Amino acid sequence: MPLDNETIEHARLAHEAHVDECRPCQTSGRPCQAAKLLRREYNNLVRRLGR
Ligand SMILES: [Zn+2]
Repeated sequence: MPLDNETIEHARLAHEAHVDECRPCQTSGRPCQAAKLLRREYNNLVRRLGR
């Protein structure tokens, strides 16, 4: 699968959408396990793109 800006943008939006809708994230003020996974996935994509 090609790695491009759109892929990274999608991962970023997925993380933001999760935090917006996730009750544990909102009530605790901290990222839940799923949010951490989504953010790690996004960070990995950014790293693989080399920036
Ligand atoms: Zn969450």
